[in-house]
This record gives sequence, structure tokens and C-alpha cells, in this order.
Amino acid sequence: MAGTDPRTRHLWRPYTQMQTEAPSLVAVETEGARIRLADGRWLIDGIASWWTACHGYNHPHIVAAMRHQLNVMPHIMFGGLTHEPALALGARLAGILPGSGTDVTLEHVFFCDSGSVAVEIALKMAVQYWRNKGEEERCRFVAFRNAYHGDTMGAMSVCDPDDGMHTLFRGYFPEQIFVDLPHGSAGLADFESLLARHRNEIAAVIIEPLVQAAGGMKFHDAEILAAIGAACSRQNILFIADEIATGFGRTGTLFACGEADIVPDIICIGKALSGGAVSLAATIASRRIFDAFLSDEDSTALMHGPTYMANPLACAAANASLDLFEDGERLQQVASLEEFFRDALDPCRSLQGIADVRVKGAIGVVQMEQTRHMGWLRQRFIEEGVWVRPFGDIVYLMPPFIVTNEQRAALGDAVVTVMREWSKKPG
Ligand SMILES: *Cc1c(COP(=O)(O)O)cnc(C)c1O
Repeated sequence: MAGTDPRTRHLWRPYTQMQTEAPSLVAVETEGARIRLADGRWLIDGIASWWTACHGYNHPHIVAAMRHQLNVMPHIMFGGLTHEPALALGARLAGILPGSGTDVTLEHVFFCDSGSVAVEIALKMAVQYWRNKGEEERCRFVAFRNAYHGDTMGAMSVCDPDDGMHTLFRGYFPEQIFVDLPHGSAGLADFESLLARHRNEIAAVIIEPLVQAAGGMKFHDAEILAAIGAACSRQNILFIADEIATGFGRTGTLFACGEADIVPDIICIGKALSGGAVSLAATIASRRIFDAFLSDEDSTALMHGPTYMANPLACAAANASLDLFEDGERLQQVASLEEFFRDALDPCRSLQGIADVRVKGAIGVVQMEQTRHMGWLRQRFIEEGVWVRPFGDIVYLMPPFIVTNEQRAALGDAVVTVMREWSKKPG
């Protein structure tokens, strides 16, 4: 049976209690929105491999671009050298990120290999920005409860303080300032007065715009996001948007900041950047940030440089992925998925034990009142022929945008069927 391979014990898995969790299934092949397991079963993918595979798997256009790059030059160091895939990608990103075409364009692109590292770079960029301006004490960050920004040290320090990691690693990383996402005018006024009080020690505010993803798929309105951005600029505090989960159409606009019509000082992208083909991320700064690093001194240069940064193969995949966004079809697919999820997940609302059902772009969420029967839930979804991984108190769908109508119907039906059984399960 799949998963009983004795070599499996050598593989230490993510966030996994290795003593009790069921062994991993073995995946052997992908195609469109489907995954084939070693035992021959095909599953319809409801979560696009951690929200990356927005065009589905093995998209022929991305495969062809990577194949070409693989033959020509799969990798070259980025110190002192550059290459066409990075030149093209940097310029194209500058042309589509929030603010493009205005005088506050996000136009200075620093490539790296993973989202967490893109966040580390954003934090370092913000701290060094203030140091270069002579404001050395400004090295703390304001972050929001339920936030998730990654697993490396700096990124962890701006994740939700109560979700476990802060207690586990207490003493290991810097303490940041945490607030609830403000709502209403009183909440926003409190938020701004906190910024004003701590202004001299705060480097930046960091937020996942519109959707706090791994912290429980919690949504906030574009108006709140815009008001937070405006408070930062009034208080002269940098504003970092972590669009690693929301970027590339997931929330309905190409970037979530676009819906609020705001331009952050620094933006982080990753996950769907390469269309799910290979690891790539980037931190992009506005001219105001970039200019603060320019001087005659080496000491004001941005101090970061991953070995594989701007890997040509990954940049080629990302360029091909951007091609696939160009005709606008992807955003139409997201709009259509949003409409579909509203109807398809609605029956979950009336089930016992369900706290909330919410939809935003190509994200459909069913939130439970209590986390229970998680192992059973995961198992049942596989039996239903879908790949859906509940976490925390939620079951969610974030499929590839290209799912067919039959596939999305199967995903919706599976969630309703399984949650109906779950709601009747004692204990
Ligand atoms: C996934 C994610 C990260 C971390 O990205 P990795 O590639 O897993 O390091 C950071 N921020 C957000 C909002 C994410 O969703």
C-alpha cells in the first residue's frame, strides 16, 4: 500500500508529529488540477500545492519555457552576473505590481528562493532603510494577530504570538508589537495612536493584505487595508505588504493591494510567482526605499544575497506564468470560482458545529466551531477523490484557477458531503 515504503522514515515532514501521524501518500504524477497516487488513484487538487499551482500542474507553456532554459543555462550566480530571464522578470513585475505607472512604482526587485526569506529581506530592508537615514532605534515591527509570514526567525517573530511558535521559541527572537486588525473608526484611531506612541522605535507595519491565510483564512475589507496604509504614511512608518499568498489573482485582483488602491513601500511575493513549478520569491521596493541605500559607502548597501537568487530556471518559469495572466482569463476564472463557491459551500452554513462559511476570490472557507476529527477529515476527503487538507479550525478550497466545472463541482460536493458527516459525528 502507498505510504508504507520503509524509506519513508527518513523523511521528516512539515509540522508533523512523526510518532502519530499517518504516513504520507506517495504522489507520482500531476496533470492539470489532478494528482495521481502510487496506487493509481487520481485526486482532484483543492489546494493547488499550498496555493502555488494557479495554472494547474505541468502547464505546457511553463514546461516549454523551463525546458528551453534548462538546455541553455539552468543556473548562474547573480553576483556580478545577470541574465535575460531575470532582466525580463524584474521589468515585467515592476510593470504589473500595485502603483505601476504612477510615481510610487514598486520597481526594485530583489529575488530569493522562498517566501519566508522574502519576508526576512523585507524586514532587513526596513531596518537598514532607517539606519541609512540615521534612525538606528527604528528596528521593531507592528504585526497583526492571526498573521503568518513564514518559518524563519525574523518571519516567525511577526507571526501570530499565540499560535504556539512564540511560546516554543521564547527568547530566541525579537519581540514585536502585536495588534488586532483594527475595524471601525475607533479601532483605526487606536491603531494610529499606537503607531504615533511607538513611532521612534517602529521600522514598519507588516500585513497580509485582505486575507490572513495560514493564520486561518481570515478576511478584512479593502477599506481597512487602505486606512492602515494611510495611517502608516501619516506617521511616516514603512508599510510592508506580504502578498505571498494573495498575489497573482487569488483574491480577485492581480494583487490584493490593488483592490484597496494602495501601494506599499515594500511587497513580498512568492508561492504562485513561478506558477507552482519551482521555488521562487521576491521582495520589491519603491524608489523611496531603494534610494536610501545609495551612497559612496559600501556599508549602506542591502546586506543580503542568497546563493541561488534569481535562478534562471525559476525566472523562466515565472516569465511563462506571467504570460498566462496576460489575456485576463485567469481573473475571470477567479471571479467564476468566487461565484461558484458562494453557492456550492452555502449548505455548510446550516450544519451543526459550523462557525462560518466565507468566500473571497478563489478561496472558499468552512470554519468549524471546534477542531475535532482532523485525521478522519483528511482521510474522508481522500476517499471522496479530492486533495483537501484542513488545518486549525478550517476546511478550505484554493484550487488551481483552471479547474474544470466538473472538477470544481466535485470539490464543492466533497466538502459538503464530508462536513455533513462530520457535523453528525459524536465527540
Ligand atoms: C507561505 C507564506 C509565507 C512563507 O513562504 P515559504 O515559501 O513557505 O517560505 C510567507 N507569508 C505568507 C503570507 C505565506 O502565505
